[in-house]
Amino acid sequence: MILFLLDKNHLTEGERQMPAKTTTHRTAAGIPYTLVRGGVKNFNLRVCTDGTVRLSVPARATLAQADEMVARHADWLAARLGERQQRAEEPLPDKAAALALFTQVSERYYPLFADVLGGMRPELRVRDMKSRWGVCAPGKRRITLALRLAARPVEQVEYVVLHEYCHFVHPDHQAGFWALMTRLMPDCKERRQALRRG
Ligand SMILES: [Zn+2]
Repeated sequence: MILFLLDKNHLTEGERQMPAKTTTHRTAAGIPYTLVRGGVKNFNLRVCTDGTVRLSVPARATLAQADEMVARHADWLAARLGERQQRAEEPLPDKAAALALFTQVSERYYPLFADVLGGMRPELRVRDMKSRWGVCAPGKRRITLALRLAARPVEQVEYVVLHEYCHFVHPDHQAGFWALMTRLMPDCKERRQALRRG
């Protein structure tokens, strides 16, 4: 959901080898959270799509530091969890209506990619996905979109549809992908942020 990047510390040689992760469940400031130690360079605190709080810390971090990090962001976490709860109570959009909306948006971008797609429209699918807004399967000429995306402002729907179309040209998220996205949608970064903010 949202990622916090704090404490950019240098690593020792041992830590660069990324020791195995260990997971424990703790509570700090009344907030239950999952603590994952190892495998990261920085403290990453986030609310997962399933509503759990997860803190990843470098292997050398102490439990006191981990608890303190959670306690210090208690208000921020409460706000994120509240927003999430509110959204969970909103009814999901109708699947047929969602597909109609996505098809309408897709029609706008298809002409730009018609050559790449050999003159055949991609197959659009709608699924109740929790953790992703869209998935592109270039080999299958298929774009799958999250049902809940249909409840978002149309600028954000456009962003996701175009993003998935660009994967027909660039399967990854390297510089070439973002150069194409930015050329076709100059404010794509703003739209992406708005989508992530929710
Ligand atoms: Zn992508």
